[in-house]
Amino acid sequence: MITTIIKFKNYGQQVVEAAKYIGQGFAVTLDHPNRLPTTVQYPYEKNLPSERFRGRIHFEFDKCIACEVCVRACPINLPVVDWTFRKDIKKKKLRSYSIDFGVCIFCGNCIEYCPTNCLSMTEEYELSSYDRHELNYDQTSLGRVPVSVLHDVSVQSVRI
Ligand code: SF4
Ligand code: SF4
Repeated sequence: MITTIIKFKNYGQQVVEAAKYIGQGFAVTLDHPNRLPTTVQYPYEKNLPSERFRGRIHFEFDKCIACEVCVRACPINLPVVDWTFRKDIKKKKLRSYSIDFGVCIFCGNCIEYCPTNCLSMTEEYELSSYDRHELNYDQTSLGRVPVSVLHDVSVQSVRI
């Protein structure tokens, strides 16, 4: 008789425990309708990148001294720096500069080590293309003034 009572007691405790866990699970589920959605209706809405976001690299041709530090700092030696040596002024003259964003890992090393600060990271992240060769940006594309989500009147920006 006592054994049966103990069994019933244990069974009752297990039922209470199970009900408690089910209740906790439902509480988590019911909490979700009160939360704001984390997704946005891209491209009509766009998230604002964070301050230190590593987007498309901006390059200032006039400031570059063709030292190639960015090439050596890059883990994959990506920037292509084409220059000629001007004997009259005994200086390198930059001819062209390019970075292939199809290969770049946006680590920011080139920017960190550039002695003249002619490289910087922008908040541009829309770099997709149907042709991967279009991702190889020359100095003209790299020098384009970055587009900010804040200044895009066609979209509603969302702070994340
Ligand atoms: S961001 Fe990194 S991977 Fe891209 S070019 Fe600069 S150093 Fe190379
Ligand atoms: S490190 Fe800066 S200055 Fe030197 S080649 Fe690269 S971009 Fe030009």
